[in-house]
Amino acid sequence: MSKNSRIYIAGHTGLIGSAFDRVLAKDGYRNLIKRSHGELELTDGPAVDQFFEAEKPDFVILSAGKVGGIQQNQATPATFIDTNLSIQLNVLKAAHHVGVERLVLFGSSCMYPRECPQPMPETALLTGPPEPTSLPYAISKLAGVQLCLAYNKQYGSQRFIPVIPNSAYGPNDNFNADAGHVLSALMSRFHKAKESGSQSVTVWGTGTPRREFIHSQDIAKAVLHLLSMTGQAIELPVNIGSGTDYSIREVAEAIAQTVGYDGALEWDNSKPDGAPRKLLDSERLRTTGWAPSVDFEAGLADTYDWFMSQGPGRE
Ligand code: GDP
Repeated sequence: MSKNSRIYIAGHTGLIGSAFDRVLAKDGYRNLIKRSHGELELTDGPAVDQFFEAEKPDFVILSAGKVGGIQQNQATPATFIDTNLSIQLNVLKAAHHVGVERLVLFGSSCMYPRECPQPMPETALLTGPPEPTSLPYAISKLAGVQLCLAYNKQYGSQRFIPVIPNSAYGPNDNFNADAGHVLSALMSRFHKAKESGSQSVTVWGTGTPRREFIHSQDIAKAVLHLLSMTGQAIELPVNIGSGTDYSIREVAEAIAQTVGYDGALEWDNSKPDGAPRKLLDSERLRTTGWAPSVDFEAGLADTYDWFMSQGPGRE
Protein backbone atom coordinates (compact mmCIF):
# COMPACT_ATOMS: atom_id res chain seq x y z
CA MET A 1 0.00 0.00 0.00
CA SER A 2 1.57 3.31 -1.04
CA LYS A 3 0.66 6.84 0.01
CA ASN A 4 -0.92 7.23 -3.45
CA SER A 5 -3.08 4.08 -3.24
CA ARG A 6 -6.76 4.66 -3.79
CA ILE A 7 -8.32 3.57 -0.51
CA TYR A 8 -12.10 3.41 -0.21
CA ILE A 9 -13.31 3.65 3.40
CA ALA A 10 -16.90 2.37 3.40
CA GLY A 11 -18.59 3.77 6.52
CA HIS A 12 -16.07 6.57 7.08
CA THR A 13 -18.31 8.42 9.56
CA GLY A 14 -18.81 5.36 11.80
CA LEU A 15 -16.82 4.15 14.80
CA ILE A 16 -14.30 1.97 12.93
CA GLY A 17 -14.33 3.80 9.56
CA SER A 18 -13.64 7.18 11.15
CA ALA A 19 -10.63 5.71 12.97
CA PHE A 20 -9.21 4.62 9.58
CA ASP A 21 -9.93 8.07 8.19
CA ARG A 22 -7.96 9.72 11.02
CA VAL A 23 -5.05 7.25 11.06
CA LEU A 24 -4.61 7.14 7.25
CA ALA A 25 -4.83 10.93 6.86
CA LYS A 26 -2.28 11.38 9.66
CA ASP A 27 0.05 8.85 8.00
CA GLY A 28 -0.04 10.86 4.74
CA TYR A 29 -2.30 8.71 2.55
CA ARG A 30 -3.55 11.12 -0.09
CA ASN A 31 -6.24 9.25 -2.02
CA LEU A 32 -8.93 8.41 0.48
CA ILE A 33 -12.29 7.75 -1.17
CA LYS A 34 -15.37 8.41 0.96
CA ARG A 35 -19.09 8.56 0.29
CA SER A 36 -21.85 9.47 2.71
CA HIS A 37 -24.84 7.18 3.06
CA GLY A 38 -26.88 9.75 1.12
CA GLU A 39 -24.36 9.72 -1.77
CA LEU A 40 -24.05 5.94 -2.03
CA GLU A 41 -26.53 3.34 -0.78
CA LEU A 42 -24.47 0.18 -0.30
CA THR A 43 -27.56 -2.08 -0.27
CA ASP A 44 -28.21 -0.92 -3.87
CA GLY A 45 -26.22 -3.36 -6.04
CA PRO A 46 -26.25 -1.42 -9.37
CA ALA A 47 -25.24 1.80 -7.55
CA VAL A 48 -22.33 -0.04 -5.89
CA ASP A 49 -21.21 -1.51 -9.25
CA GLN A 50 -21.30 1.91 -10.85
CA PHE A 51 -19.31 3.46 -8.02
CA PHE A 52 -16.58 0.78 -8.18
CA GLU A 53 -16.34 1.08 -11.98
CA ALA A 54 -15.93 4.83 -11.71
CA GLU A 55 -13.54 4.96 -8.74
CA LYS A 56 -11.54 1.73 -9.18
CA PRO A 57 -10.19 1.62 -5.61
CA ASP A 58 -6.98 -0.31 -4.89
CA PHE A 59 -7.96 -1.06 -1.29
CA VAL A 60 -11.33 -1.30 0.44
CA ILE A 61 -11.99 -0.99 4.16
CA LEU A 62 -15.52 -2.38 4.49
CA SER A 63 -16.54 -0.81 7.79
CA ALA A 64 -20.11 0.03 6.75
CA GLY A 65 -22.97 -2.03 8.11
CA LYS A 66 -25.86 -2.22 10.49
CA VAL A 67 -24.55 -2.47 14.06
CA GLY A 68 -26.10 -1.98 17.46
CA GLY A 69 -26.37 -3.17 21.04
CA ILE A 70 -28.16 -6.15 22.48
CA GLN A 71 -31.59 -4.45 22.59
CA GLN A 72 -31.40 -3.14 19.02
CA ASN A 73 -30.39 -6.60 17.77
CA GLN A 74 -33.49 -8.05 19.36
CA ALA A 75 -35.84 -5.28 18.21
CA THR A 76 -34.82 -5.26 14.51
CA PRO A 77 -33.29 -8.66 13.65
CA ALA A 78 -34.48 -8.58 10.04
CA THR A 79 -32.77 -5.24 9.40
CA PHE A 80 -29.53 -6.55 10.89
CA ILE A 81 -29.32 -9.69 8.76
CA ASP A 82 -30.74 -8.21 5.58
CA THR A 83 -28.66 -5.01 5.51
CA ASN A 84 -25.36 -6.67 6.33
CA LEU A 85 -25.84 -9.54 3.89
CA SER A 86 -26.62 -7.21 1.02
CA ILE A 87 -23.84 -4.69 1.76
CA GLN A 88 -21.26 -7.49 1.97
CA LEU A 89 -22.51 -9.21 -1.19
CA ASN A 90 -22.67 -6.01 -3.23
CA VAL A 91 -19.29 -4.69 -2.14
CA LEU A 92 -17.39 -7.97 -2.46
CA LYS A 93 -18.82 -8.72 -5.89
CA ALA A 94 -18.00 -5.24 -7.17
CA ALA A 95 -14.52 -5.32 -5.58
CA HIS A 96 -13.83 -8.68 -7.21
CA HIS A 97 -15.12 -7.45 -10.56
CA VAL A 98 -12.86 -4.37 -10.71
CA GLY A 99 -9.91 -6.32 -9.24
CA VAL A 100 -9.08 -4.50 -5.99
CA GLU A 101 -5.72 -5.40 -4.44
CA ARG A 102 -7.08 -6.06 -0.95
CA LEU A 103 -10.37 -5.70 0.90
CA VAL A 104 -10.87 -5.89 4.67
CA LEU A 105 -14.20 -7.14 6.03
CA PHE A 106 -15.15 -6.81 9.70
CA GLY A 107 -16.68 -9.80 11.45
CA SER A 108 -17.72 -9.80 15.09
CA SER A 109 -16.94 -11.75 18.25
CA CYS A 110 -20.66 -12.67 18.42
CA MET A 111 -19.97 -15.12 15.55
CA TYR A 112 -18.31 -17.46 18.04
CA PRO A 113 -20.32 -20.18 19.83
CA ARG A 114 -22.08 -18.92 22.97
CA GLU A 115 -20.44 -21.66 25.04
CA CYS A 116 -16.99 -21.19 23.56
CA PRO A 117 -13.80 -22.03 25.49
CA GLN A 118 -12.10 -18.76 26.47
CA PRO A 119 -10.10 -17.08 25.05
CA MET A 120 -11.67 -17.88 21.67
CA PRO A 121 -9.26 -18.95 18.88
CA GLU A 122 -10.28 -18.53 15.23
CA THR A 123 -10.48 -22.34 14.96
CA ALA A 124 -13.53 -22.29 17.31
CA LEU A 125 -15.73 -20.58 14.69
CA LEU A 126 -18.69 -22.75 13.63
CA THR A 127 -18.12 -25.33 16.37
CA GLY A 128 -21.40 -24.41 18.12
CA PRO A 129 -24.40 -22.07 17.95
CA PRO A 130 -23.85 -18.34 18.63
CA GLU A 131 -25.67 -16.38 21.36
CA PRO A 132 -29.40 -16.17 20.38
CA THR A 133 -29.85 -12.42 21.10
CA SER A 134 -27.55 -11.52 18.20
CA LEU A 135 -27.93 -14.62 16.00
CA PRO A 136 -29.20 -12.89 12.81
CA TYR A 137 -26.32 -10.40 12.96
CA ALA A 138 -23.85 -13.21 13.70
CA ILE A 139 -25.10 -15.24 10.72
CA SER A 140 -24.73 -12.25 8.40
CA LYS A 141 -21.14 -11.78 9.58
CA LEU A 142 -20.32 -15.50 9.32
CA ALA A 143 -21.63 -15.31 5.75
CA GLY A 144 -19.40 -12.29 5.06
CA VAL A 145 -16.34 -14.13 6.36
CA GLN A 146 -17.17 -17.20 4.26
CA LEU A 147 -17.66 -14.99 1.19
CA CYS A 148 -14.11 -13.67 1.64
CA LEU A 149 -12.64 -17.15 2.13
CA ALA A 150 -14.58 -18.60 -0.80
CA TYR A 151 -13.43 -15.85 -3.20
CA ASN A 152 -9.85 -16.29 -1.99
CA LYS A 153 -10.00 -20.04 -2.51
CA GLN A 154 -11.69 -20.00 -5.89
CA TYR A 155 -9.40 -17.31 -7.32
CA GLY A 156 -6.19 -18.43 -5.59
CA SER A 157 -5.46 -15.23 -3.69
CA GLN A 158 -5.66 -13.69 -0.25
CA ARG A 159 -7.20 -10.46 -1.43
CA PHE A 160 -10.21 -10.51 0.87
CA ILE A 161 -9.17 -10.27 4.50
CA PRO A 162 -11.81 -11.00 7.16
CA VAL A 163 -10.91 -9.72 10.62
CA ILE A 164 -12.74 -10.18 13.92
CA PRO A 165 -12.37 -7.22 16.27
CA ASN A 166 -13.85 -7.48 19.75
CA SER A 167 -16.20 -4.80 21.22
CA ALA A 168 -14.97 -1.58 19.63
CA TYR A 169 -15.24 1.84 21.25
CA GLY A 170 -13.97 5.36 20.64
CA PRO A 171 -15.01 8.59 18.87
CA ASN A 172 -18.08 8.39 16.58
CA ASP A 173 -19.65 5.52 18.53
CA ASN A 174 -23.45 5.50 18.77
CA PHE A 175 -24.20 7.13 22.13
CA ASN A 176 -27.93 6.43 22.05
CA ALA A 177 -28.76 5.00 25.50
CA ASP A 178 -31.16 2.36 24.11
CA ALA A 179 -29.71 1.41 20.72
CA GLY A 180 -25.98 1.63 21.43
CA HIS A 181 -23.51 -0.91 22.77
CA VAL A 182 -22.91 -1.02 26.50
CA LEU A 183 -19.93 1.34 26.78
CA SER A 184 -21.31 4.29 24.83
CA ALA A 185 -24.86 3.77 26.14
CA LEU A 186 -23.66 3.90 29.74
CA MET A 187 -21.41 6.86 29.08
CA SER A 188 -24.31 8.95 27.86
CA ARG A 189 -26.64 7.69 30.62
CA PHE A 190 -24.12 8.50 33.37
CA HIS A 191 -23.45 11.88 31.83
CA LYS A 192 -27.16 12.75 31.85
CA ALA A 193 -27.47 11.56 35.45
CA LYS A 194 -24.51 13.72 36.51
CA GLU A 195 -25.97 16.76 34.75
CA SER A 196 -29.43 16.30 36.25
CA GLY A 197 -28.11 15.38 39.71
CA SER A 198 -29.89 12.01 39.58
CA GLN A 199 -28.99 9.67 42.47
CA SER A 200 -29.17 6.38 40.55
CA VAL A 201 -28.75 4.96 37.04
CA THR A 202 -30.21 1.73 35.72
CA VAL A 203 -27.74 -0.70 34.17
CA TRP A 204 -28.98 -3.75 32.24
CA GLY A 205 -28.58 -7.38 33.23
CA THR A 206 -26.67 -8.83 36.17
CA GLY A 207 -23.29 -7.13 35.62
CA THR A 208 -21.50 -10.50 35.56
CA PRO A 209 -20.96 -11.03 31.78
CA ARG A 210 -17.41 -10.28 30.70
CA ARG A 211 -16.41 -8.28 27.63
CA GLU A 212 -13.12 -7.35 25.97
CA PHE A 213 -12.97 -3.81 24.58
CA ILE A 214 -10.61 -2.48 21.96
CA HIS A 215 -10.20 1.15 20.94
CA SER A 216 -11.04 1.87 17.28
CA GLN A 217 -7.55 3.34 16.74
CA ASP A 218 -5.96 0.03 17.75
CA ILE A 219 -8.24 -1.78 15.29
CA ALA A 220 -7.22 0.57 12.46
CA LYS A 221 -3.53 0.11 13.26
CA ALA A 222 -3.87 -3.67 13.49
CA VAL A 223 -5.51 -3.79 10.06
CA LEU A 224 -2.87 -1.53 8.50
CA HIS A 225 -0.24 -3.80 10.01
CA LEU A 226 -1.94 -6.80 8.36
CA LEU A 227 -2.13 -4.95 5.03
CA SER A 228 1.57 -4.16 5.21
CA MET A 229 2.49 -7.84 5.50
CA THR A 230 3.83 -9.18 2.23
CA GLY A 231 4.57 -12.68 1.03
CA GLN A 232 2.62 -15.57 2.50
CA ALA A 233 0.02 -13.85 4.60
CA ILE A 234 -1.50 -15.03 7.85
CA GLU A 235 -4.21 -17.71 7.94
CA LEU A 236 -7.63 -16.04 7.82
CA PRO A 237 -9.80 -14.83 9.54
CA VAL A 238 -7.80 -12.93 12.18
CA ASN A 239 -8.92 -11.98 15.71
CA ILE A 240 -8.16 -8.43 16.93
CA GLY A 241 -8.49 -8.03 20.68
CA SER A 242 -6.83 -6.06 23.46
CA GLY A 243 -6.22 -9.22 25.49
CA THR A 244 -8.03 -8.05 28.65
CA ASP A 245 -11.68 -8.50 29.60
CA TYR A 246 -13.77 -6.94 32.39
CA SER A 247 -17.11 -7.72 33.99
CA ILE A 248 -19.92 -5.36 32.96
CA ARG A 249 -19.97 -4.19 36.60
CA GLU A 250 -16.28 -3.22 36.35
CA VAL A 251 -16.94 -1.54 33.01
CA ALA A 252 -19.86 0.44 34.47
CA GLU A 253 -17.74 1.55 37.43
CA ALA A 254 -14.85 2.62 35.18
CA ILE A 255 -17.20 4.65 32.96
CA ALA A 256 -18.87 6.27 35.99
CA GLN A 257 -15.42 7.32 37.18
CA THR A 258 -14.45 8.75 33.78
CA VAL A 259 -17.69 10.73 33.61
CA GLY A 260 -17.52 11.83 37.25
CA TYR A 261 -20.90 10.29 38.14
CA ASP A 262 -20.90 9.18 41.79
CA GLY A 263 -24.51 8.01 42.28
CA ALA A 264 -25.73 4.42 42.64
CA LEU A 265 -25.94 1.68 39.97
CA GLU A 266 -29.22 -0.24 39.85
CA TRP A 267 -29.15 -3.56 38.02
CA ASP A 268 -32.21 -4.38 35.88
CA ASN A 269 -32.27 -8.19 35.71
CA SER A 270 -35.20 -8.17 33.31
CA LYS A 271 -32.83 -7.03 30.57
CA PRO A 272 -30.75 -9.71 28.77
CA ASP A 273 -27.14 -10.46 29.72
CA GLY A 274 -26.20 -11.83 26.32
CA ALA A 275 -23.17 -14.12 26.07
CA PRO A 276 -21.48 -14.90 29.41
CA ARG A 277 -17.98 -14.07 28.16
CA LYS A 278 -16.33 -12.93 24.93
CA LEU A 279 -12.54 -12.81 25.07
CA LEU A 280 -10.64 -13.30 21.83
CA ASP A 281 -7.43 -15.25 21.47
CA SER A 282 -5.39 -12.75 19.43
CA GLU A 283 -2.11 -14.67 19.56
CA ARG A 284 -1.90 -15.19 15.80
CA LEU A 285 -1.96 -11.46 15.17
CA ARG A 286 0.34 -10.68 18.09
CA THR A 287 3.03 -13.06 16.91
CA THR A 288 3.26 -11.01 13.71
CA GLY A 289 4.44 -8.03 15.76
CA TRP A 290 1.25 -6.08 16.47
CA ALA A 291 0.26 -4.99 19.99
CA PRO A 292 -2.53 -2.70 21.20
CA SER A 293 -1.42 0.72 22.41
CA VAL A 294 -4.50 2.38 23.96
CA ASP A 295 -5.10 1.41 27.58
CA PHE A 296 -8.68 1.22 28.77
CA GLU A 297 -8.61 4.21 31.11
CA ALA A 298 -7.02 6.50 28.51
CA GLY A 299 -9.40 5.19 25.84
CA LEU A 300 -12.42 5.94 28.01
CA ALA A 301 -11.15 9.47 28.66
CA ASP A 302 -10.58 10.06 24.94
CA THR A 303 -14.06 8.74 24.12
CA TYR A 304 -15.67 10.97 26.75
CA ASP A 305 -13.75 14.00 25.41
CA TRP A 306 -15.14 13.30 21.96
CA PHE A 307 -18.66 12.83 23.34
CA MET A 308 -18.41 16.18 25.15
CA SER A 309 -17.03 17.90 22.04
CA GLN A 310 -20.18 16.91 20.15
CA GLY A 311 -22.53 18.60 22.57
CA PRO A 312 -24.11 15.70 24.52
CA GLY A 313 -27.85 15.42 24.13
CA ARG A 314 -27.77 15.49 20.34
CA GLU A 315 -27.95 11.68 20.24
P1 GDP B 1 -23.08 -7.71 23.37
O1 GDP B 1 -21.63 -7.57 23.71
O2 GDP B 1 -23.32 -8.22 21.98
O3 GDP B 1 -23.84 -8.52 24.40
O4 GDP B 1 -23.72 -6.25 23.31
P2 GDP B 1 -23.89 -5.02 24.29
O5 GDP B 1 -22.68 -4.15 24.21
O6 GDP B 1 -25.18 -4.38 23.89
O7 GDP B 1 -24.07 -5.59 25.76
C1 GDP B 1 -23.01 -6.05 26.54
C2 GDP B 1 -23.46 -6.36 27.97
O8 GDP B 1 -23.70 -5.12 28.66
C3 GDP B 1 -24.72 -7.20 28.15
O9 GDP B 1 -24.50 -8.10 29.21
C4 GDP B 1 -25.77 -6.15 28.57
O10 GDP B 1 -26.80 -6.71 29.36
C5 GDP B 1 -24.91 -5.20 29.39
N1 GDP B 1 -25.46 -3.84 29.54
C6 GDP B 1 -25.63 -3.18 30.71
N2 GDP B 1 -26.18 -1.98 30.53
C7 GDP B 1 -26.34 -1.82 29.18
C8 GDP B 1 -26.84 -0.77 28.37
O11 GDP B 1 -27.28 0.27 28.83
N3 GDP B 1 -26.84 -0.97 27.02
C9 GDP B 1 -26.36 -2.12 26.46
N4 GDP B 1 -26.37 -2.25 25.13
N5 GDP B 1 -25.89 -3.15 27.21
C10 GDP B 1 -25.87 -3.01 28.55
